[in-house]
Amino acid sequence: MEQFLQNTLQNSQDAFQKWRKIPFEERQKYFTQLSEILNDRKQEFGEIITKEMNKPISQSVSEIEKCAALCDYYATAENILKTEQVETEFQISEIHHEPLGVILGVMPWNFPFWQAIRFAVPTILAGNVIVLKHASICEKSGETMQEIFEEAGFPKGIFTFLKVSHTEVEEMIAHPIIRGVSLTGSEAAGRKIAETAGKNLKKCVLELGGSDAFIVCEDADLEKAAKDGAQARLQNNGQTCVAGKRFIIHEKIYQDFVEKFTEEYQKYQPENPMNEETKLGLMAREDLASDLEKQYQKALNNGAKAIVALESVGSMAFKPGILEMNPENPIAQEELFGPLAMVFKVKNDEEALQIANNTMFGLGNAVFTSNKERALFFAENLESGSVAINQIFRSDVRLPFGGRKNSGYGVELSLYALKEFTAPKTIIGKF
Ligand code: NAP
Repeated sequence: MEQFLQNTLQNSQDAFQKWRKIPFEERQKYFTQLSEILNDRKQEFGEIITKEMNKPISQSVSEIEKCAALCDYYATAENILKTEQVETEFQISEIHHEPLGVILGVMPWNFPFWQAIRFAVPTILAGNVIVLKHASICEKSGETMQEIFEEAGFPKGIFTFLKVSHTEVEEMIAHPIIRGVSLTGSEAAGRKIAETAGKNLKKCVLELGGSDAFIVCEDADLEKAAKDGAQARLQNNGQTCVAGKRFIIHEKIYQDFVEKFTEEYQKYQPENPMNEETKLGLMAREDLASDLEKQYQKALNNGAKAIVALESVGSMAFKPGILEMNPENPIAQEELFGPLAMVFKVKNDEEALQIANNTMFGLGNAVFTSNKERALFFAENLESGSVAINQIFRSDVRLPFGGRKNSGYGVELSLYALKEFTAPKTIIGKF
């Protein structure tokens, strides 16, 4: 390992030894400062995001507001890590929740601030310190986040951004100072990180890809379902992990829904992402645009029909497309990370559920119906970390977030996230 990396890890370890001794309530105060900085400079940070990955500026600014709200939540969160006394025959019998140490975060480009803050804040509040390997196209976001943590008063070494290669990530996970790793990213990266973490017996949290179902029953409010569906699929340029990607529609309302959905969908057309009114920007990288185009062609070659053609506009943007899918199409098993929707026609709820669960992903499915029992049938049987009823699924800092199956494991957000990188220590004794 390069000397600079070795030194950085040592600095983080030294910072951890001091930080872990600061009481939880004292640590919380720093997050109030951080929230203020985020709110005060949301436009500036939003522009960094948009320049890096091309999402519409209004969505980048909302991302910063969401980060500030997350800081506020943890700044006043209940201390669930306080020492617990347990009645036993011993005079001392306590559970101490101890932080693990220096935790590595490997983060993606699609929400450059949110993903890193979502990981870092509860991990640091629990008494750990973090080092961040950000996506290669998000170095400015990474540097800025380190700067504002320090501006908020966090001691140096609590949040450290590093420019490192994949090989160096592997070396870091193997290093004794790193005690855990959290990845948000693709399934392929998840397999690699989990393999290295497993080999080195390190705790690992994985937030990976998704191909969520968006089920519309014949008794649903179709106007709302169509509007929400278009937004679910096309927000963040269609590059959101947790988003309706497979639209599963009851045959009785199929035609009606598809017409309404298409109308809403076509309100999103690629524009300059720096304009306030823009609803759809450009893809984050050229290779990602080219991957999406290949998946589109492969879907057509395997029997899908274009309801609305996916149309390239230059090398980085698309007029968004909609595919009518045959369930056996191999593309139905892939994540489409861009402005391309898959629509499936079904006869009944059982078939809808079967198609919805016929995927190796499981993040946040959605179901639209006016019947509560029907909604609960889906909610209880959908294989995903979350289910939204009559609304788009959006992560909420107060509620746990995580995947099932190949969408990963471990929990983020809510009080649950405070325990991801801590371990309970049992202390028993008598005098
Ligand atoms: P990605 O290619 O997996 O990259 C994510 C991060 O992992 C980047 O920092 C990347 O670095 C790094 N990385 C990739 N392969 C690695 C390896 N072998 N060793 C070490 N580091 C490695 O994913 P992405 O294209 O940025 O993001 C899109 C994916 O993330 C989608 O599948 C999306 O669904 C998923 N995602 C999931 C969630 C969730 O909460 N579940 C949230 C957002 C996104 P480089 O940039 O240097 O390659």
